Amino acid sequence: MPYGYHGRILHVNLTDGTIEVEQPDESFYRTYMGGSALGLWYLLREVPPGTDPLGPQNLLVFSLSVVTGAPVHGQSRATANARSPLTGGAGDSQAGGFWPAECKFAGFDAIVIRGQAPKPVYLWLHDGQAELRDATHLWGRDTGETMKAIRHELGDRRIEVTAIGPAGEHLVRFAAIMNMANRAHGRTGMGAVMGAKKLKAIAVRGRQRPTLYDRDRVLELARWGRDHVDKTIGALAKYGTSVVLKAQNYVGGLPTRNYATGVFEHAKAISGQTMYHTILVGRDTCYACATKCKRVVEVTDGPYRVDRTYGGPEYETLATFGAYCCVGDLEAIAKANELCNRYGLDTISAGATIAWAMEAFEAGALTLADTDGLELRFGNADAMLAALEALAHRRGTLGNLLAEGSERAARAVGRGSEEFLITVKGQEAPAHMPQIKRSLGLIYAVNPFGADHQSSEHDTSYQPGSSKRELERLAMLGLTSPQDLDTLNREKVEFALKTQYFYSALDTLGLCQFDWGPAWQLYGPEHLADFVHAVTGWDVTLDELMTVGARRLNMLRAFNAREGIGRDADKLTKRLHKQLTEGPSEGLQITPEELERAKDIYYELAGWDVGTGYPTPETLARLGLAWIEQGSNGSA
Ligand code: SF4
Repeated sequence: MPYGYHGRILHVNLTDGTIEVEQPDESFYRTYMGGSALGLWYLLREVPPGTDPLGPQNLLVFSLSVVTGAPVHGQSRATANARSPLTGGAGDSQAGGFWPAECKFAGFDAIVIRGQAPKPVYLWLHDGQAELRDATHLWGRDTGETMKAIRHELGDRRIEVTAIGPAGEHLVRFAAIMNMANRAHGRTGMGAVMGAKKLKAIAVRGRQRPTLYDRDRVLELARWGRDHVDKTIGALAKYGTSVVLKAQNYVGGLPTRNYATGVFEHAKAISGQTMYHTILVGRDTCYACATKCKRVVEVTDGPYRVDRTYGGPEYETLATFGAYCCVGDLEAIAKANELCNRYGLDTISAGATIAWAMEAFEAGALTLADTDGLELRFGNADAMLAALEALAHRRGTLGNLLAEGSERAARAVGRGSEEFLITVKGQEAPAHMPQIKRSLGLIYAVNPFGADHQSSEHDTSYQPGSSKRELERLAMLGLTSPQDLDTLNREKVEFALKTQYFYSALDTLGLCQFDWGPAWQLYGPEHLADFVHAVTGWDVTLDELMTVGARRLNMLRAFNAREGIGRDADKLTKRLHKQLTEGPSEGLQITPEELERAKDIYYELAGWDVGTGYPTPETLARLGLAWIEQGSNGSA
């Protein structure tokens, strides 16, 4: 009998409506464990190179993990994978909430979606059963309305629903998949893939909780976590991720005016602390997590009324719609957050794409004809919200242009607007500046699914002055030589890669980095193998779990290699290399030469071909991935 998981993977073919259950053996679960390692196992086998991301041949895989649903803080995360319509490479995006745990309780470890439905449908999973139901009446409806309607239709208020909104239906390239109306599979456009498949939602409910190998130890770990939240990540719990905004601005690292500077004059007005004292009406959580870092905000009067159903802005959302767009009105940003969650959009790409358009408009690269008459200038909150409405529904010239994402939009517009891009592999960069966090800049460049801030530990945790606890934990990963912030030497590259493996293991297991990332101070590497053992009974070690993380990373890179996405695509735009010229970060920069040198070291340490950036056959074989077929562009 498996512990922690069911041994059941659901396969749904939307083209012909067939549904099957696969029962892989234990070695499959021990090797791939969950998340995108599991998702890529199917994508690499079944999605041919060059597949249209929005065509029926693309797969959409939702994966939980062998520990999802075990009652410990920060374990309820699901991963969505498909070929990305934004990057053209492997799409990968995690979301928390209650849906992942409830999906496990409904009796499945993963859902593999194939084909394209002839008309809108939703999938209903309950206690080991699965059925496709008509969703014609739900098409066009917002995420929150959709969830309410499905619960009403199925007669159970405790059903969890993950769904797309109008943005996914309109194939916006950075559309998200939402659960609880405020938890997003935000990055890489997985919502557009779901929309192309005409799959509106997946509803789940069940009582099939997997047996835990050592329930007492699991509960002991949960109690330890509960007792340490306040002492370790209390500020995150109180203020949410937005707690970092003021600090980012203080060091000159808050990307402002489309990443032109790291200092925003209205930082205080949009900070987590201001939100706490003004529009915050509650804190929310994910299944079994005592941290409760999620925001709930509400605005009941004034120009920007905000519906609490759609949660509240995270740091990235405050930065992209606030500092990137130079909007210092917290209520306007909260409204933008509501619209993104309501329509199903990635807040990072949406805010950053609008910031790109604002700069292009101010520079004359976009005209009033391109913006449908909108004065799309920095600081114009009303224009920002109007642009957001337009792109979510692909309305007019502007909506259709921005729905493609900033990189495709710049290519279409030209007129020098490419100079303002902050994209990597077509995806807009999050709000941590590579000029200040240089190993993160390297990760932005080499990460398989574009710039990402949650794929490694940030430089700030590996300095001589970092806390004792941070350094002790990093030492457990073999990192014993902390470096100054402004270096990107071999030790720093090793730090980037090893913490990337660790975060990759967390993503494979569907664990939340806020509860499990070494620098976040609650659980850490010392707890990971213990937890996996207590749930599954497997005698895993930290080394084995680091290998699991490396395996996932190599699978993502191998998928990209088949599409010809390798070293040449591992680059930052000019704007991300720009030397900063004001405030505490004045003079800081990551130069293209410095990045290229770091890439050489990174590929060598990763066991990838230094010329192409593709995993070598030896590395794939070492990770048990010799089966991966390489396309004509792949060297492995
Ligand atoms: S720390 Fe926050 S995001 Fe992570 S599981 Fe807990 S509530 Fe969810």
